[in-house]
Amino acid sequence: MSKFLILDRDGVINEDSHSFIKSVDELQLIPGSINAIARLTAAGYRIFVASNQSGIARGLLDEYALAKIHQRLNAMIEDVGGFIEGWVYCPHGPLDGCDCRKPKPGLLFKISLEFDVPLIGTPYIGDSLRDLQAAKTAGCEPVLVLTGKGKRTFADGLPAEVGEARVYENLATFADAQLLTGAV
Ligand SMILES: [Mg+2]
Ligand SMILES: [Zn+2]
Repeated sequence: MSKFLILDRDGVINEDSHSFIKSVDELQLIPGSINAIARLTAAGYRIFVASNQSGIARGLLDEYALAKIHQRLNAMIEDVGGFIEGWVYCPHGPLDGCDCRKPKPGLLFKISLEFDVPLIGTPYIGDSLRDLQAAKTAGCEPVLVLTGKGKRTFADGLPAEVGEARVYENLATFADAQLLTGAV
C-alpha cells in the first residue's frame, strides 16, 4: 500500500520571500529539507507539492520561469535520492476568485484526480494557516512546520478547526517523526 505526502513549497522546501521567488537564482533551500524528502522517498512515500504562486498573476514571473524553478528543485532533490512525483500550483491572484488558491482545497483535489492520490488522512505540510485550512477542507491531515511563515502562524494561534495539527520545527523533524510512526 502506498503512502502519500503533500508539501507546500515556499517556507517548507525553500525559504520564502516577501518579494516572491521569481527565478532559480533566488532559490535558497531550507536546511535539511531535501534530505528529508530523500529519506521519505526511500521509505516509500509518494510525494507531491501544492503551492500558491500568485507571482504569476502579479506579472513577476511566467509559467516558464516557474517550470525552471521546479526543474532545478527536482534536480537538487533527485541528486540526493529524493523524488517529487508532481508539482501543482495556483497561478492566480487573491482577487481572481479561483478554486485553487489556498485556503481553497482545489490544488489538493487536483493532485487527487491527476495522480490518483487518496486525500483522507494524507498529511499536507505547510507553514501558513491557509495551508492547514486547505488540508482540513480536503480531508488531509494538516501539519504545520515552523520554517518560513510557520513561527508567525503558530504565534498567531491556530483556530479550533485546525487546532489538532501536528507541529514540527521543520521538514526534517517532521520526516523523523513520520518515519518512526509511519513505519508500520
Ligand atoms: Mg508556504
Ligand atoms: Zn488558482
